[in-house]
This record gives sequence, structure tokens and C-alpha cells, in this order.
Amino acid sequence: MIKILILGGGFGGIRVALNLEEKIGSEAKITLIDKNSYHLFVPALYEVASAYGVQKDPFAVRLKKTICVPYSDIFENKNINFMQAEVSAIDPDNKKIVTEGGEILDYDYLVIALGGQVADYGVPGVKEYAFQFKDLEDALLLNRKVDELIKEVAAGIRIRPIKVAVVGAGFTGIEVAAEFACYIKKLSNYSSIRAEDIAGHIKR
Ligand SMILES: Cc1cc2nc3c(=O)[nH]c(=O)nc-3n(C[C@H](O)[C@H](O)[C@H](O)COP(=O)(O)OP(=O)(O)OC[C@H]3O[C@@H](n4cnc5c(N)ncnc54)[C@H](O)[C@@H]3O)c2cc1C
Repeated sequence: MIKILILGGGFGGIRVALNLEEKIGSEAKITLIDKNSYHLFVPALYEVASAYGVQKDPFAVRLKKTICVPYSDIFENKNINFMQAEVSAIDPDNKKIVTEGGEILDYDYLVIALGGQVADYGVPGVKEYAFQFKDLEDALLLNRKVDELIKEVAAGIRIRPIKVAVVGAGFTGIEVAAEFACYIKKLSNYSSIRAEDIAGHIKR
């Protein structure tokens, strides 16, 4: 039986797995490997960054449920094997991959769908001072940071307004800015925080 290994369970990896299963599922052993047990639904990441009251849910269980879709649900009743592991090396000459745990898996065909990384394009200061916004941990960190600042304003510890600068006005920048604007409006409706305590800038 043909062995197909798919590395990465983002949109790319999942689509490939489902399409291959539909077309050649009976003739191939399809295995998808991801370091997480869930697919991260990135288009909803803004909602995590700007969610109110995460502190009452210290492990953000409720939030994670809305954005993390278990692979076991996605591949339920499908002839697709899922393996949770971090891929650490690919050996194309011998058609093998190695995982962080030292496991070696062989394949006939390999699909690499491991996604991309945040790039700072060498802009000075970005790496040191800016928050990146790519995965769940980034969104939770941003949420915590904004919450800390808001608490400082509410307690009168901070006099200067909080300034949120979103750099980059592509889809992600626009969505982050819009979600934060809604978040702040909501806060100013329900607490002593005034919208003018928090100033936002979009820079391009
Ligand atoms: C905040 C945000 C919002 C976005 N919103 C939209 C949108 O609304 N519409 C849209 O079309 N696009 C959107 N995008 C872009 C979209 O998310 C990407 O284009 C898409 O996720 C790329 O898919 P991918 O499968 O190539 O990689 P990814 O989705 O990044 O998937 C890579 C997978 O590989 C896994 N992985 C990585 N390294 C390893 C390793 N060593 N071992 C094992 N597993 C590993 C990761 O856990 C991940 O599951 C958004 C991006 C961001 C950051």
C-alpha cells in the first residue's frame, strides 16, 4: 500500500489529506503529523486577542474551544491516521522523516505543509519590541498585556492613555485594529475606562 505522509495540519495539510482520502483512500495509507492535537482556526485568532474576561478562565479553556478544532473530529470516519509529533528532520534520500521524540517514519510520497514563520523584514526594533500575531500563544499574550494595561488605567496607576499601534494594514492588521476598537468600546460602556484612555493608531 502506498504510504503518504503529510507534515502539518493547517489549512493546506488538512485539505490535501481530505482530498487524497476521497480520491485514493482505499489504495493509500495517509498519515498526517502535527505538533498539536488540534487544528488552529487562525481566522478567529483576533477574537482570542480581544476577548474580555479571560482571566476568570486562567487556562483559557473556553476560548481555546472556539479556535482549536481537534484532528480527531476533523478526521472522524475518514481513512486518515493522525499522529501528534514535532517533525525535526526530513531525509529525502532515504524517504524518511524524524520526529523530535526520535521516531522514524518512512513514506512513498511526502507533503510538506508546515506553514510559515513571522518575518520582521529586518525592520529595526520589530523583533525586540513588537508583539507577533501568528498563533494561539501570541493571541493569549496580547490579551493578557492589554488587560494588564487596562487594569492600570482603572486603578489610576497609569495616567497616560494606552496607545495601541498596529503596524501593517493588510487583512491581519485591519482585523486586529477593528477587534481592539470594539473591545475598547465595550469596556468603556461597562466600566470606568473611557475610550480616550486608550488611543489606537494604524501605521503603514
Ligand atoms: C491572524 C491571522 C488571520 C488570518 N486570517 C485569514 C483568513 O481570514 N482567510 C485566509 O484565507 N487566510 C487567513 N490567514 C492566513 C492563513 O492562516 C494562512 O495562509 C494559512 O494558515 C496557511 O496554511 P498552511 O497550511 O500553509 O500553514 P499553517 O496554517 O501555518 O499550518 C502549519 C501547521 O504545521 C504545524 N507545524 C509547524 N511546524 C511543525 C513541526 N515541526 N512539526 C509538526 N507540525 C508542525 C503547525 O502546528 C500547523 O498546524 C490568517 C493568518 C493569520 C496569522
